[in-house]
Amino acid sequence: MKGKTKKEKKEKLSFKKTVSNNLFAIKAIWRSSPSYMLVYFGSSFVYGILGFLSNTYLLRKIVNDATSGKSIDGVIQYVILITALNIITGVALRWFWNVMSPPRQRKIAADIEKMLFRQAARVELACYETPSFYDKYVRAMDEAYNRMISVMRSFDGLIYKAIALTANSMLLFIIDPWLIVFGLFPLLLGFFKRLQNIERHAYQVDFKPIKRREDYVRRTFYLGEYAKEMRIGGMYVQMLSDLRDTYKDYMVILRKHGVKCFLYSYIQKVGLEVFTVLGATLYAVWRIMVDGGMQVGDGIVVLSSIGSISYALSNLIQNVAEFGEHALFLEDVRYFLDYTPKILDGEHKLPESPDELEVKNLSFRYEGSESDTLKNISFSLKKGERIALVGSNGSGKTTLVKLLLRLYDPINGEINLNGNNIKNFKIDEYRDTFSTVFQDFKMLSLSVKDNVLLREGKQGDTELVLNALKESGVYEKIQTLDNGLDAILTREFDDKGVNLSVGEQQKLSLARVFATDTPFVILDEPSSALDPIAEYKMFENMMRATVGRSVIFISHRLSSAVLADKVLLMENGEIAECGTHTELMEKNGKYAAMFRRQAENYLGNEVQGNE
Ligand code: ADP
Repeated sequence: MKGKTKKEKKEKLSFKKTVSNNLFAIKAIWRSSPSYMLVYFGSSFVYGILGFLSNTYLLRKIVNDATSGKSIDGVIQYVILITALNIITGVALRWFWNVMSPPRQRKIAADIEKMLFRQAARVELACYETPSFYDKYVRAMDEAYNRMISVMRSFDGLIYKAIALTANSMLLFIIDPWLIVFGLFPLLLGFFKRLQNIERHAYQVDFKPIKRREDYVRRTFYLGEYAKEMRIGGMYVQMLSDLRDTYKDYMVILRKHGVKCFLYSYIQKVGLEVFTVLGATLYAVWRIMVDGGMQVGDGIVVLSSIGSISYALSNLIQNVAEFGEHALFLEDVRYFLDYTPKILDGEHKLPESPDELEVKNLSFRYEGSESDTLKNISFSLKKGERIALVGSNGSGKTTLVKLLLRLYDPINGEINLNGNNIKNFKIDEYRDTFSTVFQDFKMLSLSVKDNVLLREGKQGDTELVLNALKESGVYEKIQTLDNGLDAILTREFDDKGVNLSVGEQQKLSLARVFATDTPFVILDEPSSALDPIAEYKMFENMMRATVGRSVIFISHRLSSAVLADKVLLMENGEIAECGTHTELMEKNGKYAAMFRRQAENYLGNEVQGNE
């Protein structure tokens, strides 16, 4: 909320932008389901005409026929016809809403989500770390479908009310043209409706960051991964205090916007009741009782019609104002969808056998940071080579991995794949040459098999999964599960779901690597949750299973670095030392000192965690 400009809070869009944003929604729905849209709008058209014929026009016909002494037959035939039409359209509409509409609405929602998710996967990681972009992104995700459907509803309301308005105005005009003045008054109130909508949007904009914070606190209470710390230490108290802060912030914005919204809506209601309904009624009474220029029958029609007109007009204004509100929300959706990612696809085809990476004078700085996280890094990864990336926490190892995967682009230097800058390749194709296990790996609420075979096209390859599970050391555990490979992980959607230990999950995420044959493998602390024996076995298996593939692994236990062809010791974003384990031990520098310190700790049974 802090640092937001007034302009950001109370946006107003130009007329052109308002129209364009609403049309954007209409087009998106039309592309997804034209038949749905046609029936939706068509039904309003028919309903609008029928509504007029069966209410106001019928009333006038009865009164006129009665006062002019016509026979009752005409009215009866008219009532039968209108009732029959009402029944037919009523049945057709109910069929549409209950049978035709739900699947089409689902399709529209899925198409809109697909559009958003595709873009979400395209935008660079840095976008998730920029609060202003992230808020827009969350609002877009939250609002897109409902807003687009609301645009259609408002448009539909426009059609329905325009018909009621035209028909009733014509009737009033025939009775007494001055009556139109009362009917038009609600137009003036549209100004307040617009103010109300702008205020409501400003409220939503202010509310979103608070909601995000509140959701976060809520997650810490119900997600299993926080459960332990919630019960010991001060996390519980801290989160409750955070929750109280969000409520306080919430009350502040409610007070700020709530009173204004109330005032704008109150002015509209009073204006409508006093000037339109009361005004027209008094005028009609005066014409009948004092002036004597209006028939009683016409007076009755005036009361009915003026009600319909003022209702239609104020709702029509509401509809028009709603378009303004929709446009403001859709602006976020369009901003998100139109955002051109900074990490762009290149046009070159991948080499036949991509197997060599070269990092040249690479420097990188996170947005908003004051110094470079990576400084002038150079090294190469040859085909089949294994590099161990070691160094203390915060030295830049994970950042280097993120750049290798093109999750960020360097500010200086380059990374080459078989001699060609990786920026020249299509991002997805390039990333598909890697199998990666991150420190903060994620298991999905899917079966064990699907969790291993994430990529499409391999589903069902049981043999492959079993081998991968054996290599990663979790095969025995999976064998004990009732449903084996088909067991669902986590209990989020399945009471019989399986909760694996962190170490078992880590092994399962490693199985993903063993189930692929990508030329490059990156493992970011793949053994952090394993005990030393399981870790040793895992590394042994990994070395065997990845023969011929180029591997970069980060490990804080230097015993594993012994298995690497080359060790890169990182310090403050730079490569402090580089060589084989033996070379670095002979050099007797920082790596050798770290290695000895860890070995001593192990020997003294004081296993130290992160360096
Ligand atoms: P390592 O993997 O060696 O522990 P990292 O690459 O994770 O180190 O982090 C290197 C430095 O970059 C740290 O100082 C960390 O705080 C900083 N850093 C990491 N991620 C971000 C980010 N998204 N934005 C800003 N700074 C970051």
